[in-house]
Amino acid sequence: MNKQKLTVLGATGSIGVNTLDVVAQHRDRYEVVALTGNGQIARLVEQCLQHRPRYAVLADEAALPALRQQLADAGLASVEALAGADALEFVSTLPEVDAVMAAIVGAAGMRPTLAAARAGKRVLLANKETLVMAGRLFMDAVRQGGATLLPIDSEHNAIYQCLPQPFSDQPAQGVRRLLLTASGGPFRQFDAAQLATVTPEQAVRHPNWSMGRKISVDSASLMNKGLEVIEARWLFDLPPERIDVVVHPQSVIHSMVEYVDGSVLAQLGNPDMRTPIAYGLAWPERIEAGVKPLDLFQIARLDFEAPDLVRFPCLGLAFEALRLGGAAPAVLNASNEVAVAAFLDHRIAFNAIARVNEETMRHVASNYDAESLSSLIEADGEARRYAETRLAHA
Ligand code: NAD
Ligand code: MG
Repeated sequence: MNKQKLTVLGATGSIGVNTLDVVAQHRDRYEVVALTGNGQIARLVEQCLQHRPRYAVLADEAALPALRQQLADAGLASVEALAGADALEFVSTLPEVDAVMAAIVGAAGMRPTLAAARAGKRVLLANKETLVMAGRLFMDAVRQGGATLLPIDSEHNAIYQCLPQPFSDQPAQGVRRLLLTASGGPFRQFDAAQLATVTPEQAVRHPNWSMGRKISVDSASLMNKGLEVIEARWLFDLPPERIDVVVHPQSVIHSMVEYVDGSVLAQLGNPDMRTPIAYGLAWPERIEAGVKPLDLFQIARLDFEAPDLVRFPCLGLAFEALRLGGAAPAVLNASNEVAVAAFLDHRIAFNAIARVNEETMRHVASNYDAESLSSLIEADGEARRYAETRLAHA
């Protein structure tokens, strides 16, 4: 069998590490061509020792000499060290690369992910911010580039699995609505007063999933679910009125599709990202992921509740961004990145994240359209600057 050749963007992060774990279980199927990271050089070099890629790439050019040195010290002279935004695009579009795992966090992931789509790769999309920022442009790039897009976000992967196969980006026949499940995060039962005083340490301790810090805070504020509604809108070409959020604290059902005949299809499994990653890597086949089988007797029950948009306004802001259209989702996303970083830095309170996001969206969104990448990048930039000015008053 010809091995599938892989670039892993964001290899040193939570999704990246899980991806390499699945790859290591299937050396006969996958070969790593490039690994990228930002900062964690020692971990990147360790991954190079294990996977022997041709390229190791850092986002930050200033760190390139240190990467070269550490690769040499590890006896990895055959691995070429590169750095910078162009290098990230280069390894996402190499002719010999079949598949690109897009697992950089935040808007920084957009350019290389878009480049992989344009180059017609199999794109394993974890970086939801690309779709939130530039949903229409990205889906156009997928079509025009002839790329195969496989969602890795567990909810979208679940929905994908519940849709008729082969999946096309046309709205599937007979679908009434999508039901995105949400765990509710660590603060599901907190009241407004408690939410005002929670710490970053509490916010990153997710009850069911182990993830990077930014997405963990987003899960706690339900902004993550909001970003996922926007992501679903583009991936499955359905209007927001047909996308509902269901809080399901056990995180066993990863999402559902309701059909017009009354059928509801759900995908279940233990909350382990190696399931959607393995699905994306092997599609349309199935491979072992190293995930524990689901023990329904131990789980015993599944609960569902409606999301509370008063305590968790970020979810409502995402629906609002879709209603506003244009650059509003990109503005919301950029503001949220600034606000979450400030919260993680102990500069603002948890409930100030939503306030900063709301004010920034109201102030910046209507100044830009979503017709071009340059307009979206400008919107992203202005939203970041504006959000920064709001932090002091939040
Ligand atoms: P993480 O913080 O653990 O890892 C992020 C990766 O991106 C790291 O390799 C880091 O070095 C790299 N990176 C950070 N800033 C960068 C920059 N400016 N330029 C280039 N590279 C940079 O994040 P994660 O939890 O692995 O999440 C990655 C993406 O996957 C996010 O978009 C997240 O929303 C999405 N996602 C994650 C999970 C999960 O379970 N972790 C689930 C669904 C979706
Ligand atoms: Mg998700």
